[in-house]
Amino acid sequence: MSLPVLRIKPREGKRARAGSPWIFSNEIALDDATRRLEPGAAVDVVLDDGVALGTAMFNPKTLIAARLISPQRGETLDAAFFARRIHAADALRARIFAEPFYRAVHAEADFLPGLIVDRYGDVLSIQLGAAGTDIRTDAIVEALKAVYAPRAIVLRNDFQARTLEGLASETKLAFGTEPGEVAVRENGATFRADPMTGQKTGWFFDQRENRGFAARFVKGKAMLDVFSHAGGFALAALAGGASEALCIDASEKALGLAARSATASGFENRLLMRKADAFEALDDLASQKVTFGLVVADPPAFAKSRKDIENAARAYRKLARQAAATVEPGGTLVMCSCSHHIDAARFHAECAAGIHQARRPARLLRASGADIDHPVHPHLPETAYLKCLVFTLD
Ligand code: SAH
Repeated sequence: MSLPVLRIKPREGKRARAGSPWIFSNEIALDDATRRLEPGAAVDVVLDDGVALGTAMFNPKTLIAARLISPQRGETLDAAFFARRIHAADALRARIFAEPFYRAVHAEADFLPGLIVDRYGDVLSIQLGAAGTDIRTDAIVEALKAVYAPRAIVLRNDFQARTLEGLASETKLAFGTEPGEVAVRENGATFRADPMTGQKTGWFFDQRENRGFAARFVKGKAMLDVFSHAGGFALAALAGGASEALCIDASEKALGLAARSATASGFENRLLMRKADAFEALDDLASQKVTFGLVVADPPAFAKSRKDIENAARAYRKLARQAAATVEPGGTLVMCSCSHHIDAARFHAECAAGIHQARRPARLLRASGADIDHPVHPHLPETAYLKCLVFTLD
């Protein structure tokens, strides 16, 4: 198929030539014909010296103006194409996970820019983060039906990054019948998640391995799960033999899921819950001198953009200080950040500073990121957003 040609300006496109899938708006030679292309249109990307980079999805209205999706020129981006790519992404998960609960497609890293697919058995919850995938919703839904024969496909297009692409926010059922709450089995517990109305796509699969790792430190001890959402860390800890777990979250709905998850897992007698602001609740616990063998703090992204970086850094430091104060001697502190804009070195430094302010000698046992169903495109290291640090405190 012959596609419109998108020309890169002389001396531009270095990252794309080296293997990055992104081409920025300032790198493109814009003529009238290019400007008139529909957002999301497929184009052939050609460098100034005539070298073709392949097929991209183009959006003249955004900073990441072209996302390469195939090294072939003239690729047909139809249901069959998406089905092949989704199949390949799923094959990786099928080798690793015994049960069908995982992120099946992680956008650029799975060679499907602008597409996230989370799998809850026969229910799929998807996010379309680029005009190129948004205008191909029907083809993508067809492809998912062909690969998974699902009972429902939920479109969770209610996230901020869509505005950068000029796309509206919406949540809807793209196929099947309303799924309601679904079960997720992970780390020896059964969780309740809500793909239609839960946070993000309904469940945070990225922390699976970190939850399992934290649970190794907790046998016979009490644990605290701050910013617990549905209790991912708490229930993994209970499955790992924690004597009890306390979940703190500001969301009633999240705690409701945690409660039903505890019941589904047979842990309801060992799960405590408090609906509160995390910072206030931590102050409260410290003033009462309550301590835990394991404390996990996994807040929402404090830095939503670059201008938030300094405020966010202060918040991570404060959180580390407060959380450290609730760890018993010899106990474990797990600090997490999912802010894209706070890099690993900065997060480490803020956690170290906060723990020091709490006057707790610490050893760092492990620094990790997201679980392996969230691969990173080797040329987009900045997309590795999750940081998880495990400290033991004297
Ligand atoms: N640890 C969870 C994910 C946490 S997501 C897991 O493993 O799945 C972040 C959570 O923080 C959300 O559930 C949100 O409701 C909660 N939250 C956001 N701001 C808060 C605040 N100020 N105090 C307490 N909880 C808060």
